[in-house]
Amino acid sequence: MWSAGEFRLAVASEVRVPTRTASGDSNTLSRIEDLLERLGRDYSRDDVELVRRAHAFSSEAHRGQVRRSGSPYVDHPIAVAVILCDLHLDAVCIVVGLLHDVLEDTKATGEQLRAEFGGEVTTLVAGVTKIGRMEFNSELEQQAVNFRKLLLAMVEDVRVLLVKLADRLHNMRTLGYLRPSSRRRIASETIEIYAPLAHRLGMGRIQSELEDLAFRYLEPDAFERLHAQVAGRLRAARSFTARIKKQVEQTMKQHDIPCRVMHRVKGLSSLHQKMEARDLELDQVYDLVAFRIVTDTVRNCYGALGIIHNDWNPVPGRFKDFIAMPKGNMYQSLHTALLAAGRPFEVQIRTEEMHRVAEEGIAAHWLYKEGEKHSTRETEPLVWLRQLLEWQRDVSDPREFLSSLKLNLYPDEVYVFTPKGEVKALPRGSTAVDFAYMIHTQIGEHCAGAKINGKLAPLKQTLRNGDIVEIVTSSEASPSRDWLQLAQTTRARNRIRGFLNKQQRARSLELGRKMCDKEFRKYGLRLKKLMADGTIERVAGQLGLGGAEDLLVAVSFGKVGVRPLVERILPSEELESRRPTRRSPLRRWVDKAMGWSAADAIQVEGIDGIMVYRARCCGPVPGEPIVGYVTRGKGVSVHGASCKNIERLLEAEDRRIEVVWTPPEGSAQPVRLRVEVDDRAGMLAALTSKIAAEGSNIRRIESNKTTSYKTRIDLVLEVHDRAHLQRIVRTIGNTNGVRSVRRGRAP
Ligand code: MN
Repeated sequence: MWSAGEFRLAVASEVRVPTRTASGDSNTLSRIEDLLERLGRDYSRDDVELVRRAHAFSSEAHRGQVRRSGSPYVDHPIAVAVILCDLHLDAVCIVVGLLHDVLEDTKATGEQLRAEFGGEVTTLVAGVTKIGRMEFNSELEQQAVNFRKLLLAMVEDVRVLLVKLADRLHNMRTLGYLRPSSRRRIASETIEIYAPLAHRLGMGRIQSELEDLAFRYLEPDAFERLHAQVAGRLRAARSFTARIKKQVEQTMKQHDIPCRVMHRVKGLSSLHQKMEARDLELDQVYDLVAFRIVTDTVRNCYGALGIIHNDWNPVPGRFKDFIAMPKGNMYQSLHTALLAAGRPFEVQIRTEEMHRVAEEGIAAHWLYKEGEKHSTRETEPLVWLRQLLEWQRDVSDPREFLSSLKLNLYPDEVYVFTPKGEVKALPRGSTAVDFAYMIHTQIGEHCAGAKINGKLAPLKQTLRNGDIVEIVTSSEASPSRDWLQLAQTTRARNRIRGFLNKQQRARSLELGRKMCDKEFRKYGLRLKKLMADGTIERVAGQLGLGGAEDLLVAVSFGKVGVRPLVERILPSEELESRRPTRRSPLRRWVDKAMGWSAADAIQVEGIDGIMVYRARCCGPVPGEPIVGYVTRGKGVSVHGASCKNIERLLEAEDRRIEVVWTPPEGSAQPVRLRVEVDDRAGMLAALTSKIAAEGSNIRRIESNKTTSYKTRIDLVLEVHDRAHLQRIVRTIGNTNGVRSVRRGRAP
C-alpha cells in the first residue's frame, strides 16, 4: 500500500491523484536557479533581482532550520514561490512567498523586512503570518463558514490569501512527513477552510488538489478503494476516450472551429462527494471523464455545441449554460452530455480565457495584458468581482491594480469571537449588546458590561472584525431604554422592547393597585377582597376593559379615575354614608409640614421611573417633602410639597396621591441653580471648585452678562439629597462676589 514517501500512480498520469512534487528530488540550489531562470523570461530584471535578494534573506533567516522531511527549511518557501510563479503572479507575491515564514519562525523582525523590502512586502508578510496564527479548530459547519468569511473580511489585500493558499498547498503536498494526528488536523482544516476559500476565489486547480490531498489523509481507505476503481475504469475506457477525442477534433476542423480538445478526469475527492451525496456507483457517474473543447470566442462555443449536438445524441436535461449564467466564482463554460454507442460522456466548451479563469480564478485576472478586451458578457453576480474587472480597465498597469485592491467581500457583516473561540457573524455597526442577545436572551437581559479583547469596554463600542467579546453579567443588571440606540440587530431590539413593555406594565399594575387600595380604604373597601370576589373583574367588563389587571393599569395611567370606580362598586346610598370627611386645614398643614409618611404611600425611587417621575417645575430631591399628582396618561408626577403648581392643581381636582422617598436615598438627581454674581475675573473658577469640593458633578454651566457689573450663571448640578443640596447652596451663597442663589426649573 502507499505511504507518503513512495506514493506512485497506479495507472496513467491522467488520473489526478496527489503526488509529491517532482521538485522534491532536486536540490535547493537548482530549484531557486530554475525559478530565477523562469522569472528571467517573463519578469523585469529588477523583479528578478528582488526575488534573488528575498531568497538570500530567507535562506539566511532560516539557516539551520530543518523540515520534518529532513530537507532544509528554506525549501518550503522556495516551493511556495514556485507555486505562485506557476500562477504567473507578480514579483511582490513571489517575494512574499519566499519570506512568508520569517516573521513567525525566525529572528527576523518587521523592521528588518521593512528596511530591506519596503512597506508593501512587510504588510503582506504580516498578513500571511496573522492568518497562520488563527486557530481553526472548528467542528461545526456554520463555524467553518464564519471562519472563511472572517478570513476574507480581515484580509485587505487578496495577495495575502494567494500566498496563504500556496503555503497550504505545499504543506499538504508534504503532509505525509508529519505525525498522523497533525495530518488529520491539518487535512480537516484544509477541507473546511482553505479548499472552499480557493473555490470562492475561483481557483479550481488548487481547490481540487487541496481536496484530493485532504481526502487522502482523512479517509485513506475510501481514497485507496476509489483510486483503484477509477484506474480500472480508465484502463478499460482508454480506446473509447481516444476515439471520441479524435472524432471531436475532426468534426471541429470540418466546421472551421479553431480549438484544442482535451479530456480531464474528475478529482477523486469531488467524485467521492458526488457518489456519496447521490448514492451512485462509479458506473453511474457520467462525468468521470469529461472532454473539453477550448476555443477562441463565445460565438464559437455555441457553434461547437450545435455541431456536437448534431453529431451525437444529447442526453436530455444535461445541458447547462454557465456562459450566460456564470457561477458565483466566475466559472464559465457550456456543459452537455452525449451518447456514443449507448455510452454517455460529458463535454465542456469554453474559451481560452474562461479556461484560465476556471483553473486559476482571481489569479487569472492578474495577468491580463493592457488593452486586451475581455468578454462583454460579464453577468457576474458578485459586485466585488465586477468592480475588480472594471477597475482593471482604468489602470494601465494590470499588476498595480490588484496590489491596491482591498477585499471587502462582506461589507455588511462583522465577525467576532466568543471567549471560547467560536466565531459569530453580526451586522456591521453591532455592539456588545447585540452580541449578548445573540448568545442568549438571558445574557442580554443581565448584561452589565463587556470586555473586548480582554479590556473593559463601554457597551456602545462598535465591534470590529476579530474582536474577542466577553459579556459581563450581573443579576442586578437589566435593559434600559437607551439600549435601543445601542442595538443594531432586530433580535436584540425586539427583546429589549419586549422587556421594557413588560417592565412598564408591571410598574403600572403596581401603581394602579396602590392607588386603588389607598382610595378604597377611605370607603372601608379592600382591593384584595374585591379582586378575589370578582367585583373588579366585573367593573372592568362594564368599562370595556380586558380584565382586572387592565383596569388597574388604566387607573395608573389616569384613564380611569379611582372615585368613579368606587361609585360603581358601592350602592349610591352607602356611598353617601361612607364618604370620608375632608381633612381639616389644620390636618392638611400638619401633613404637609411632616412630609408624607403614610404606610400606603407610593414609594418613589431616587431615579425617575417610567410611571413615577419628578415634576419639571420643582424637581424635588430625595429628602424633601413631596406630593404625588396623578396625571392623565403619564403616571404620577412627584412635586415638592411647597410647589406653587401642585397647590393649584390639587385645588381643581382631587388627584393627590401620597408618595414617600424609598430609602436609600441613593442616586444623583440633576438640579438647576441660578446664581447672580458680580462681574469679575475668576468667579466661574471659584464656583466650580467649591461645587467640586462638595462632591457634586456639574452637568451644564452657562454664564451670561446681564448688566455692566452683574453676571448670571446657570448651573445644572447632580445632588444626592436635600441635605447635599442645602450644603451646596450654602457654600455658593457664602462665596465672595455671589449676590444670590435660586433654585431653577428641574432640568
Ligand atoms: Mn509556510
